[in-house]
Amino acid sequence: MLSVSEAQQRILSHFEPVEAQTLPLEQSAGRVLAQDIFAAIDLPLFDNSAVDGFALHASDLERVVSAGSITLPVIADIPAGSSTEITLQSGQAARIMTGAPVPEGAEAVVMVEDTDFNDRAPGTPVPKNVTVYKPAKSNTNIRQRGEDMRTGTKVLSRGQRLRPQDLGLLAMLGVATVPVHRRPRLALLSSGDELIPLEATLTPGKVRDSNTYTLSAQAAQSGVEVVRLGVAADERLAVQSMLERAVAEGVDVIVSSAGVSVGAFDFIKDVVEEQGSLDFWKVNMRPGKPLAFGHYQDIPFFGLPGNPVSAFIGFEVFVRPALEKLGGAIPQPLPRQRARLAGPVNTDGRETYLRAVVTEENGTLVARLTGHQGSGNLLSLVQANALLIVPSGVKSLPANAEAEVWML
Ligand code: AMP
Ligand code: MG
Repeated sequence: MLSVSEAQQRILSHFEPVEAQTLPLEQSAGRVLAQDIFAAIDLPLFDNSAVDGFALHASDLERVVSAGSITLPVIADIPAGSSTEITLQSGQAARIMTGAPVPEGAEAVVMVEDTDFNDRAPGTPVPKNVTVYKPAKSNTNIRQRGEDMRTGTKVLSRGQRLRPQDLGLLAMLGVATVPVHRRPRLALLSSGDELIPLEATLTPGKVRDSNTYTLSAQAAQSGVEVVRLGVAADERLAVQSMLERAVAEGVDVIVSSAGVSVGAFDFIKDVVEEQGSLDFWKVNMRPGKPLAFGHYQDIPFFGLPGNPVSAFIGFEVFVRPALEKLGGAIPQPLPRQRARLAGPVNTDGRETYLRAVVTEENGTLVARLTGHQGSGNLLSLVQANALLIVPSGVKSLPANAEAEVWML
């Protein structure tokens, strides 16, 4: 049997990032950057005021300290958005607004609250004189050119998924079109004669195809475009024609659930093998021991187990990292933590993923299993906020033992 990490490594070796495209900035949220981004300008681009107040000359800063207050003529009014040509001399002040360029010669900005001119009603004209009450150090309330970043700074890295704040930074830098990877396309199919679509009436022996919904939503979380092929009957031809549709759709990867175990009607393995290659692995894990991976023609193919919880976990453990790599993202370590077990846990010695609720109690994380852990029982997964991982070779853990949890 393969270990989970061996299986993951083998799978990853079959994936390369899809090509890049250029998108308008406003369409690039959530997309994966295809190139490093460097600042083409300094930010801030000019020294500017961090407050509404009065710009003072260096010599006057010292005079406030010695005299306790000083009164100066106000020789200019500098609103945000203006550019100023003036040079402030000793003994002069200029009214200045937040974000406005600090004039030559100014050494600090004193905020209006520290002067006798505390009237900020819109339209208030500039006063003739201002009295400053509070000393300020050199550079106080001045946002220096380049203090955030200098021209040439690497600000975002290839392989990063763009977040809202990243878009804001790109806009500040004037990056209107962004090199990102295109969204990978994934064909999803379910298989089994017992499966009926959501809209159909339940009849004896049938169950609703739920994996389509779970797995497409999981895929969408990795930025993948999903082509839903629906349910293939347990017949060779049905399976084959569905896989042909995946080829016709030009997808980058195919994911199926069910029909890959050793049941008498499990045709998927045969069909994939005929038109490509298939490794059928027994992975040393629970749930989800049977995992098929291969290629249909030359499209990577995952055969996940059919049981809804196994399919979900199989996706997270094996498919998600592959989709991230396919989409150009740099793989991130899983958000794993340590938690204390509220009660004892027994396993069969395989690497086991149990559904648990993890809460913080008196400064430590405590994990409690949710409901019946059968691999078809979805409610216990729905009620969980974490998967508790018992490593392979460990058959039991007592209450209060520490174990790894993977927050969902
Ligand atoms: P199989 O892998 O075909 O033996 O299926 C294992 C179990 O998973 C069976 O109980 C199936 O009914 C169930 N199952 C398979 N596919 C789905 C699906 N798409 N939605 C919900 N349950 C499924
Ligand atoms: Mg089946």
